[in-house]
Amino acid sequence: MNRRAIVIGAGLAGSSAAERLAARGWKITLIDAADAPGQGASGNLAGVLRPLPSLDDNRLAQLTRASFEHARRHFAALTAAGQPLRWAQTGVLHLARDDSHEATQRRVVERQQPAPGELRFVERDEASELAGWPVANGGWWFPGGGWVDPASLCRANLARHAAQITPRYACQVAQIDRHAGLWRAHDGAGALIAEAPVLILANAAAGRHFAATAHLPLRAARGQVSHLVADAASVPQIVVCRLGYVTPAIDGLRSTGATFSIGDGDATLRAADHAENLAKLDFILPGYGSHIAAAELAGRVGFRPLSPDRLPMIGAVADATAVDPDRPARPLAEMPRLAGLYVINGFGARGIVWSALAGELLACLVAGETPPLADDLVNAVDPGRFLLRGRNRRVRGAARSLIDG
Ligand SMILES: Cc1cc2nc3c(=O)[nH]c(=O)nc-3n(C[C@H](O)[C@H](O)[C@H](O)COP(=O)(O)OP(=O)(O)OC[C@H]3O[C@@H](n4cnc5c(N)ncnc54)[C@H](O)[C@@H]3O)c2cc1C
Repeated sequence: MNRRAIVIGAGLAGSSAAERLAARGWKITLIDAADAPGQGASGNLAGVLRPLPSLDDNRLAQLTRASFEHARRHFAALTAAGQPLRWAQTGVLHLARDDSHEATQRRVVERQQPAPGELRFVERDEASELAGWPVANGGWWFPGGGWVDPASLCRANLARHAAQITPRYACQVAQIDRHAGLWRAHDGAGALIAEAPVLILANAAAGRHFAATAHLPLRAARGQVSHLVADAASVPQIVVCRLGYVTPAIDGLRSTGATFSIGDGDATLRAADHAENLAKLDFILPGYGSHIAAAELAGRVGFRPLSPDRLPMIGAVADATAVDPDRPARPLAEMPRLAGLYVINGFGARGIVWSALAGELLACLVAGETPPLADDLVNAVDPGRFLLRGRNRRVRGAARSLIDG
């Protein structure tokens, strides 16, 4: 097989897929409209790395646990290879939002019996000690969690097998098509940017821009993070979450947030959103930010690529034109696909946790290898799921609300 692929998008999704295929000897042309990797949703100063347990150990929880473990192995491998990935395993304290949530957190730990090095429930006093600040509830303590600089992860992914990857930055793909067995990416003037047998769409919230993927129910969720000037020795020295998060000081700035609004395309920083983040910070660490004025804060706005079931989209793109909406349901394995066209998207608020395993899964699917996840999880993230019978109305509804928004 001619092992060449185009990847559109140099964020966490695209850089992870490119790295995994490059590791297998593939030649990649990586295209991004920005002038460097990790400038979109993947450009925050820092985000949180931790699993997301649930009482019923649902698919989201299973996927996130597997991804968390995979991510740490991937990060260790990047670091061992000398790549300048910036992250720290400070531990993550996920405080309960109220007494009832605290009871649920306890039951999860009792029921699932995780190794204490992975997760344990800590009472309020111990939680306060860990945070270095008095907190209102106990919570989950993930000693192996921490913060990650996502743009540094994108850069490290792309540098690891740099000889295999040809980046094309400041280059916007306006159109894609398939001709003589090759996928082609064209710019706004119709000029050919690249062609290859495989095309991987990792262009986040713009993922529905192309006709072949217009049926995917992707939405963008605006998120604003606030940056607090902070001394390196100040508390907290760990990541603390409670319907929001606050990181340790990184290069003199602590990140806290974030807001979440769907159908909101405003890319400018808003004082009202900083005020919302300060209120979240007060919920996490009562009184911590009481001296801070929202109007004086800096921060960053990003747009999370969101799918309606909150699971990512990883795999071969279905041929929507060949699917009869009134046909009875059939297995995903029989879904008609567009040969050579793949998507890695829908990371929502979990891209830092999911991207490494998602990249590996996509590379396995492209290369025809056994996936690193059980079949039910592979199916759960299959982008073809949105064209299964019974989902059509919801998909159309989501598409309509996107247009209305
Ligand atoms: C405020 C906020 C806080 C977050 N916190 C966390 C967290 O704590 N933990 C966590 O795990 N995750 C977190 N996330 C989520 C995570 O950052 C995202 O899931 C992830 O960055 C998405 O990566 P991506 O590669 O899909 O998208 P992006 O990073 O946006 O990359 C898409 C790229 O495609 C390019 N592109 C688009 N269209 C085209 C085109 N036509 N031609 C060329 N290039 C194109 C864009 O320029 C962009 O660089 C957070 C996100 C936000 C916004």
